[in-house]
Amino acid sequence: MPEGDTVFRTAQKLHEGLSGQVLTVSDLRVPQHATADLTGLVVDETVSRGKHLLTRVGPWTLRTHLRMEGVWHVHPHGTRWRRPGHSARVVLETAERQAVGFWLGMVDLVPRDAEDTLVGHLGPDLLGPDWDLELALQNLRAKPDREVFNALLDQRNLAGFGTEYTNELLFVMGQHPRTHVGEVKDLRRMISRGQQMISVNSTRWERSFTGSTRPGQDHWVMFRGGRPCRRCGTRLLEADIGDDPVRQRNAFWCPHCQPAPVPEL
Ligand SMILES: [Zn+2]
Repeated sequence: MPEGDTVFRTAQKLHEGLSGQVLTVSDLRVPQHATADLTGLVVDETVSRGKHLLTRVGPWTLRTHLRMEGVWHVHPHGTRWRRPGHSARVVLETAERQAVGFWLGMVDLVPRDAEDTLVGHLGPDLLGPDWDLELALQNLRAKPDREVFNALLDQRNLAGFGTEYTNELLFVMGQHPRTHVGEVKDLRRMISRGQQMISVNSTRWERSFTGSTRPGQDHWVMFRGGRPCRRCGTRLLEADIGDDPVRQRNAFWCPHCQPAPVPEL
């Protein structure tokens, strides 16, 4: 599942593959931008902002978002696509390379100076050069009665965590996902720890929280509902406690290592 670390690595891949080169093909396969033409323009850079990718081309910014399934592949011309053609949302080509974005959740093209209309709502970027712990804490503390699980997922507070980071971080910190932000024992230490986790993972493609990158060994609680806690053996619990009516947000936790703020039924 793409989270801030995956997006960060994807930005690097696009940046290394395309920057400094002139686009020879630009094919945005989404209705609202189907006629846009970026050919002849130089790709300046691709950066990540939270879970958004910003590819800056001439006076334009192409914003893409991976959502659940999205992926960007960058390769030499003539390479066989590893995803079905109908799932391609963006094709960019230079003299040297082809970049194809499959199953992208968002594709938007705006004037570069209007980027803020797309990403201006985001809180401090956990992997950004401007990461600001104090501002993230301030944002989180502004709603002390909010459940910490949902507060950490809210990209307006801080940008980059998805459900994997949120679940794993809460386990590592021994906090129940329904704990109110104002009740979290050491919020500063929690956020610092989470920032450290995502930074470490941003340097590799295999995400791990436990120290092991072996499949099945790399998570403490995520995807492990009903299985024994790696620390204490208690059966892990799972529930959708997201506060977004559209998207399911499953929480996974150990009822022993992460005691409930009020006793669980
Ligand atoms: Zn446990």
